[in-house]
Amino acid sequence: HMTKRKPGRLFFANPGPTNIPDSVLRAMNQATVDFMADDFLDVYDAAIAGLKRLLFTAGEVFIYTASGHGAWEATLQNLFCSGDRILMPDCGYFSRTWGAMAKNLDLAVEMPETDWRRGPDIAAIADRLAADKSHAIKAVCIVHNETSTGVSLPLPEIRAAIDAANHPALFLVDSISSFGSLEFRMADWGIDAVVGGSQKGLMLPAGLAFTAVGEKALQAHGRATLPRFYFDWTKMRARRHRSFTGTVPIAPFYGMREAVRLIEAEGIEQVWRRHHRLAEATRRAVSVWSGNEGVAFFCADPKRRSDSVTAVKMPDGHDAEAVRAIAYDRFNVSLGSGLDPLGGKVFRIGHMGDLNEPMLLGTLGVVEMSLRLADIPHASGGVDSAIDYLATA
Ligand code: PLP
Repeated sequence: HMTKRKPGRLFFANPGPTNIPDSVLRAMNQATVDFMADDFLDVYDAAIAGLKRLLFTAGEVFIYTASGHGAWEATLQNLFCSGDRILMPDCGYFSRTWGAMAKNLDLAVEMPETDWRRGPDIAAIADRLAADKSHAIKAVCIVHNETSTGVSLPLPEIRAAIDAANHPALFLVDSISSFGSLEFRMADWGIDAVVGGSQKGLMLPAGLAFTAVGEKALQAHGRATLPRFYFDWTKMRARRHRSFTGTVPIAPFYGMREAVRLIEAEGIEQVWRRHHRLAEATRRAVSVWSGNEGVAFFCADPKRRSDSVTAVKMPDGHDAEAVRAIAYDRFNVSLGSGLDPLGGKVFRIGHMGDLNEPMLLGTLGVVEMSLRLADIPHASGGVDSAIDYLATA
């Protein structure tokens, strides 16, 4: 099966993995070194110290050779005992999957249903915690940015809800599609453990994932009895790297040190502002397209529209995969698909990672062309609106 060469760059506009900067690619082009030798340990330590600065934590960071799912699993195994109760609002494909994993690991998972187009009502979380007088709930687990729906949640408000109920539950956060894109402050926001991955805002290939862990969560780890071995934090802490039960993969750490350098050269707060600006341009385009009873924002709450991914909802009777196929086959632009049960109902524009105005405008131009070619109801002029915004904002 011969595929025809597509000239120019593949525009990768999936909400993860994301574009890898050239200097990160070059940094990872590294021959094997001894992972216990000083020259590698310097690179490793610099990468981890950088990760902690970007997370705004002084806690411990455990790294895994895994994608985000591995970090989810490791975090649950290291913090809980069989039968422990956790509260995990069902807000989309990823929170639902994390909850299913927790059930499989023998936790008692409370998954209140929410409107996926809005995410949870924070007052309902506060009420549930206030009603839990015996403190049976051991953790509140929140996906900061639901990559499947394009809904992001205000973590400080959820922290405030836990505090208002005077509840000792751990606050666990999945920051996989927010870290390095959306404002995130682990210590200030009272987050006890946070799960992240390498392939989104951190601009690395998939394959590394991590949990950053604060003091209170480390204490919970001391009491946790779920079976674990490869991902055991106690074993990891005893090693020089304070991570990894087996061989340490070296190449990703050269890449991570360089990615941290790039983010800090721009400034993490500037990185957040850039994502906001590019997301806002995307929203201007979608707002225009949504005229003529056409496509719409999947996220129905304007305050919760994500700065790293926009999910675009199809009008009834139209298939999002038709838009994606045209964008990919004809124009070499990879958009995100709808994830179960949103398959065919939405497509997703990723605007996270190493991204600038011309890349985004190229993607938005192709989305508008593809909507036209697929005969999807929409109003034209979305790209003009994005240009108007970017030219002045
Ligand atoms: N959580 C969120 C919010 C995600 O976006 C993803 C992946 O896109 C995951 C978890 C799962 O991570 P991975 O695909 O790296 O296993």
